[in-house]
Amino acid sequence: MPHISPLDPAAIIQHVYVEDDCRDLPLTKDILAKLPGRDVRIIPPRTGPDFSVEKSASHNLTKGKKHLVLCKNRGRFLKPCPATREYRCCDYQVLNVGMNCPMDCVYCILQAYLNNPWLSFFVNTDDLLAELASTFAETPQTFRRIGTGEFTDSMALDRITGLSKILIEFFKDTPNAVLELKSKAVVLDNLKHSAHNGRTIMSWSLNSPEIMSKEELRTATLDQRLAAAAQCAAWGYKLAFHFDPLIYHPGWKKGYKETIDRLFAAVPAASIVWISIGALRFLPALKNIATDRFPKSRFFHEEFVLGLDNKYRYFRPLRTEMYRHMADHLSRHLNPDTCLYFCMESDEIWQDVFGFTPEEKGGLPAMLDLAARTKCTSP
Ligand code: SF4
Repeated sequence: MPHISPLDPAAIIQHVYVEDDCRDLPLTKDILAKLPGRDVRIIPPRTGPDFSVEKSASHNLTKGKKHLVLCKNRGRFLKPCPATREYRCCDYQVLNVGMNCPMDCVYCILQAYLNNPWLSFFVNTDDLLAELASTFAETPQTFRRIGTGEFTDSMALDRITGLSKILIEFFKDTPNAVLELKSKAVVLDNLKHSAHNGRTIMSWSLNSPEIMSKEELRTATLDQRLAAAAQCAAWGYKLAFHFDPLIYHPGWKKGYKETIDRLFAAVPAASIVWISIGALRFLPALKNIATDRFPKSRFFHEEFVLGLDNKYRYFRPLRTEMYRHMADHLSRHLNPDTCLYFCMESDEIWQDVFGFTPEEKGGLPAMLDLAARTKCTSP
């Protein structure tokens, strides 16, 4: 495979499929113009590439990253984050802008979650903006935290789609909503000149340097992610970071401490709205898929317990140990208005590590809303 830069993960795309009813949309034409020399085919709506003759699901997952389908989202764009009742969730809303990702993390849940192996991007952005506008108008007093990084990486295709600029400029006039764009790439092309008005949070997932280099293929290095975050802070964007998934591996304590120290040496603590921590959790189906695709990865061979949400997790004592290590080091640098929180953890873990439960502070959604309201103001 040719070297693909994290400055443009979309460079891996070799084949583009345009659903027939999208061929005349301006965004479709813009995207095709930014992918010169690719094999382009017009296909009937809802069909997708024909992968049926391929050898295995694993093979298709690898191949699918080179195939992009431009299509319409015919359902709703905005949905609640797919959380579960049993763990503390944060009331985040997911803006569904496309499916799958050109980068390739060994632990990526999308390998087991999505029905199709190829990349999809929804080109009917006018429908997306109309839905956002009508949703905000229905309940103007409701504060919303909205992100695009649930079923894809928010920025991986941004050089060719320019979606960040469209969304950032929509959210700049929404006093009761913030947009979070979450990535493991460093695609900054459309950010410098976007009028964000303090309403967009640029965020990066972080891990230990070893996990980032061994288990997150075609993603940016720690230095690249931190330099990109520092640049965004200089442009007035607020920042967020996600230590998720924490992975138990030899030298994990030293590795995560190193990442935390380098993070706070690189970016101003006051620019960080929130930091999440979440230990590895995965659907049972993911282990077979990932170990088949990445046989050298060892971390799926640890001991896990099946949680109430039908996902495997580390046993509670190990989770607590890892979380305490992270919280100890993060709290040395943390700005008092930054919200440090667990993604999908129990009250017992919150109590053991932080000494309080979210309820004592008004609930996790209220804690995050407060951080956003405090920090996401005009630069
Ligand atoms: S960057 Fe995110 S979406 Fe892309 S492969 Fe990695 S975990 Fe999956």
